[in-house]
Amino acid sequence: MKYEAVIGLETHIEIRSASKMFCSCANKSGAEPNTNVCPVCMGYPGVLPVPNRYAIHTAVRAGLLTECKIAKFSKFDRKSYFYPDMPKNYQISQYDLPFCEHGRIKLEGEGFSGAPLPDKYIGITRIHLEEDAAKLVHSGDKSGVDYNRAGVPLMEVVSEPDMRSADEAYAYLTSLKEIMRYGGVGDCDMEKGQMRCDVNISLRPVGQQEFGTKIELKNLNSFRAVHRAIDYEIWRQGDLLDRGEKIRQETRGWNDDLGESYLMRTKEAAHDYRYFPDPDLMPVVFTDEEIEAIRATLPELPKAMRLRFQEQYGITAYDAGVLTADKELAAWFDTAAKLAKTPKLVANWISSELLRLLGEDKISISECKITPAALAELTDVISSGAINGKIGKEVFAEMYASGKTPKTIIEEKGLVQVSDTGAIATIVTEAIEKNPKQVEEYRAGNERVLQYMVGQVMKLSKGKANPQMAIAELKKQLG
Ligand code: ADP
Ligand code: ZN
Ligand code: MG
Repeated sequence: MKYEAVIGLETHIEIRSASKMFCSCANKSGAEPNTNVCPVCMGYPGVLPVPNRYAIHTAVRAGLLTECKIAKFSKFDRKSYFYPDMPKNYQISQYDLPFCEHGRIKLEGEGFSGAPLPDKYIGITRIHLEEDAAKLVHSGDKSGVDYNRAGVPLMEVVSEPDMRSADEAYAYLTSLKEIMRYGGVGDCDMEKGQMRCDVNISLRPVGQQEFGTKIELKNLNSFRAVHRAIDYEIWRQGDLLDRGEKIRQETRGWNDDLGESYLMRTKEAAHDYRYFPDPDLMPVVFTDEEIEAIRATLPELPKAMRLRFQEQYGITAYDAGVLTADKELAAWFDTAAKLAKTPKLVANWISSELLRLLGEDKISISECKITPAALAELTDVISSGAINGKIGKEVFAEMYASGKTPKTIIEEKGLVQVSDTGAIATIVTEAIEKNPKQVEEYRAGNERVLQYMVGQVMKLSKGKANPQMAIAELKKQLG
């Protein structure tokens, strides 16, 4: 490879909050267009914005989760531009004094291609808070504007140009999303526009220190598209450089159907946003105590949780990864594992049985009828020997279908394992009487017949005999 790619990402994330950033309209998507609007978010003259304390604290939380330094003094600025999606003709954003700066995210796991990643951090330049714009809806020769989204609290996370491949960018975005979801910052669903990402990318000859001229890529609708677009752009820019051409600074769009980028605008057409401090809004001041109070509300992040699960519950790194892939599932498992005598069994039941059923029914763990306490109870009755694993599966299926507890099901169906020596001896005797030929073979030295006889005992007991006791009793009676 002659060239090295240099990549920095600008990611917008909608904050999940009850109300909008500067008014009391509901922050919720999916409503009838233009129903969550008011004079403030519609930009009527003479109205004043009131900042949303929860959204500001949430942006600070996002900064703390990514090891940022939190500004004790910051302010909101007006970014001027004229477009139908912005009724005030300016967007309230932050220019030179954002809430968070100088953070970092560790790359983890593997990239989209499955190749291992280098052991490194991606720097976060800044996280600032702004208001989202309205959504333009185009249909045929008509266009409409839905102002429900105008004024929704929106964070912009700007990374340092620290990534060197499409895989690293993919892994960075995956971690960023996971952190923001765990941190309760936002849902980060790209399909719903709750997370949007612009890619800045340049090439430089391997070994060169200075960066090359960057291209900004827009309209990336999935992490996969980000990965594809970067690989395409590395190829396109490398080809231009090979032919002795200069890269011009420009903004390009990504066409995922064609798998290629296209020119949107060149640097000459760049906006002058005329930023200036918003005179309607006071600067935001934090004391150390206030920042520490927010830090105290931070949840455990998935990386820390994976390590704790392995240590506390003795499960494998692989299982810990499966169980923390979803925040709700992780909390569910944590609750069950704390209640169970053998937490490892809980992990096994979830990864082998429960996730399969949830997948088949396309439902999430919160919609599942089994409670964490019920699964803990099931693993306890199995490990105590009251029922065997095979009956356990039957009980589990019934728990999943009806939501009944294992003890209720075991009682109703009379499934308790027979561990009474006298009862097992009677069943073994019956099995021996019914299978004279096999008994003869066993006595003639064919030890494999024992397994068959165990099967017969289990069958006669309807699966309820304690298998270890059945084997011992068979050996005894067969001599
Ligand atoms: P602009 O002034 O064009 O907005 P910034 O310096 O603010 O540029 O950077 C925007 C994004 O581009 C950041 O994520 C940054 O890491 C990235 N970036 C900056 N320079 C380069 C470069 N030469 N190549 C690739 N990415 C870059
Ligand atoms: Zn409003
Ligand atoms: Mg910039």
